[in-house]
Amino acid sequence: MTLGTKTVAYFCMEYGLENSFKLYSGGLGILAGDMLKASRDLNAPVVGVGIKWLRGYTEQVISPDGKTVDCYPEHDYPFLEDTGVTVTVKIKGQRIGCKVWKTERFGNVPLYLLDTNIPSNGERLYTAFLYGGGTEERLAQEIILGVGGYKALKALGIDVDTYHFNEGHAVFAGLEMLREEVEAGTGFKDAIERVKSKTVFTTHTPIPAGNERHPLEALLYTGANLGFTTDQLSYIGNTPFNMTVAALRLSRKANAVAELHGVTARDMWKGEQRCCEILSITNGVHRPTWVAEPFLSQPSEPEAIWKAHTAEKQALIDLVKERTGVALDPEVLLVGFSRRATGYKRGNLLFSDMGRIKKLLDGKRLQVVFSGKSHPRDLQGRSVIAELVAMAKAFPGSVVYLPGYDMRIGSAMTRGADIWLNNPRRPLEACGTSGMKAAMNGVLNVSILDGWWPEACKHGVNGWAIGGEDVPSSVEEQDRQDALNLYSVLEQEVIPTFYNDRARWKGMMAASIRSCSDQFCAQRMVRDYFEKMYRRQ
Ligand SMILES: *Cc1c(COP(=O)(O)O)cnc(C)c1O
Repeated sequence: MTLGTKTVAYFCMEYGLENSFKLYSGGLGILAGDMLKASRDLNAPVVGVGIKWLRGYTEQVISPDGKTVDCYPEHDYPFLEDTGVTVTVKIKGQRIGCKVWKTERFGNVPLYLLDTNIPSNGERLYTAFLYGGGTEERLAQEIILGVGGYKALKALGIDVDTYHFNEGHAVFAGLEMLREEVEAGTGFKDAIERVKSKTVFTTHTPIPAGNERHPLEALLYTGANLGFTTDQLSYIGNTPFNMTVAALRLSRKANAVAELHGVTARDMWKGEQRCCEILSITNGVHRPTWVAEPFLSQPSEPEAIWKAHTAEKQALIDLVKERTGVALDPEVLLVGFSRRATGYKRGNLLFSDMGRIKKLLDGKRLQVVFSGKSHPRDLQGRSVIAELVAMAKAFPGSVVYLPGYDMRIGSAMTRGADIWLNNPRRPLEACGTSGMKAAMNGVLNVSILDGWWPEACKHGVNGWAIGGEDVPSSVEEQDRQDALNLYSVLEQEVIPTFYNDRARWKGMMAASIRSCSDQFCAQRMVRDYFEKMYRRQ
């Protein structure tokens, strides 16, 4: 299949291309980075547009008393190429220059990065903190990404066929296109049709509150309205202005990031008028980035798999030792859990019944490595981390918390754990790509049937499901049942298989690699985007 020559411009607030290139916070950025790399592997006509963050996202450390401390060192990336292009956007009535950098350093298609850290802007530095500021700063950043990004592509002379907004942050690019159309004399509603014909959108957030909304006054105040009236803004994105709804109304097609997420997203937005259809395209991961070398060839021979895994497990144990001083035991079942620390992901579910978990930990049936940052203002997330840090103290040598979750830790954990634990409140996990990385490395998923896992899970064959597909009516009941199901699958299936039937375990590792490596790789995802989203039917 040929992916054609018509250029797709992929917009995203964050990119996780390489650990030391700190332009990312978490899953959204990792996905975007993998998308650009797989596009390069396939010679696909894609360019990325993003922001050159001076400080990026919090690097988060843990203080001696167990509290999260956020730090934002400045970063310098001397390898970036200067395109010589600077574009101007208007923020709060002031002209702000955005210098455009470029990189293809990480095996990615060209990524263009906007940077307002230039002398002519004086102190008005909007591109320092990724997801850091309040409404005003966020809107300024979104003007830079959307409007600045759109203008940058024009100034660079790139002939774009389709604009892809990965998440709603870039939706002001659509508004800028609309402004141009209207200025050229097209009527407002016809202009919307023209913008739609050039735009597609990916939604990532099955939690209503996670879909960004801004008061119309804030759009007017910052200049994000681009001259449109409150009535026109409301027609596009409601009042308050919902970035997801606006993107659904300015796109010809949208997608969710897993089959189940598609069901959730369609249900979530079905009451909104004038929105485009929402398909499902399940995410994938860039195998050369995330899969350990011996697993890239998809080995099937049990002893070869086990030998390679043992080395990866030791590498994780070494990393844990180096970072925390804790010596984990290579013979004990190693549970990996790393996700953004936030309420619905329930990083603490394993500790719901202290008696039951204590028995497993003290009996050396399992040991757990946790990682994951919380957003600096997510109090629930911070308290989850505080609880995990307390558990690490309560179970020294069996429970570890690795602060500063990043690509380095993510990679070591999804290669070196024995099982990959995932227990969000269903159906709030959009996809969960870390589980794909694990599966391809022969790390068995033990997961709630949420996100991508229902598409892959053959219970007891290539991993395990925690519970079934029913969602109890109350959150308390859901937490209670999921915890019981988690303990029973660990006690009755995972642990006995690991210690008493190692041959079956190795067979399951082979099944995990075989069933997931092609289906959930980023190249499959890129092909799907070209076929279902980019190609005009
Ligand atoms: C893979 C990865 C993610 C995304 O994984 P989820 O399963 O969606 O949490 C986030 N952060 C890092 C550092 C990763 O490597």
